[in-house]
Amino acid sequence: MNIILLGPPGAGKGTQAHHLVESRDMIQLSTGDMLRAAKDSGSDMGRIVADVMARGDLVTDEIVIGLIREQLQAEQKGGFIFDGFPRTLAQADALADLLEEMGETLEAVIELRVDDEALVQRITARSTCGNCGEVYNDMTKPWPADGKCAKCGSTDVRRRADDNEDALRNRLMEYYKKTSPLLGYYYAHGQLTSVDGLAEINVVQAEIAKALDK
Ligand code: AMP
Repeated sequence: MNIILLGPPGAGKGTQAHHLVESRDMIQLSTGDMLRAAKDSGSDMGRIVADVMARGDLVTDEIVIGLIREQLQAEQKGGFIFDGFPRTLAQADALADLLEEMGETLEAVIELRVDDEALVQRITARSTCGNCGEVYNDMTKPWPADGKCAKCGSTDVRRRADDNEDALRNRLMEYYKKTSPLLGYYYAHGQLTSVDGLAEINVVQAEIAKALDK
């Protein structure tokens, strides 16, 4: 089963993707993670995308489609969770072509619905474990008092450079202008399920499970 998690920054795509990796043995493909890795490695591409990401703009379709193509070619089988991809209609078309080439299909597109106020609160309070990617929130799920990640024990707590109010406003604008048309696109394909992303994490997990087991 291959699925897309769709929603604005801070909607909980990463958190839900991690859960699906653990509970269903799926493979998370996050273009944001791939781009951050390219940036950290200091590669030419990493240098090109660094400023674009810091501003909260979208990286070019050509770059992200290339990254996804590479990852898909490296995998032997499906079970993909597309997290943060596609973000434009051109990316959605490219994904359909890539899956077809692999003999794979797209089973579901899950929209995580949240309001903008909640997003600002979530994003500015967000931290993640640099080792395992576990997501924390200063208010609702703070980094453990002993300084160690509850999941893997690492002390590498990180805050993303683009998790500030200015970049977030830009990321939201990019979402509404370029990504939200995908909701109509997948609805018209009969593949869209919308879930309340503001519910408790385990309630969201249950709603997603219901949609996938339909
Ligand atoms: P994310 O971790 O998904 O919030 O992505 C962080 C940043 O990486 C975004 O604000 C964009 O600058 C870039 N990015 C990630 N995925 C894509 C994509 N599919 N298309 C264009 N830019 C992307």
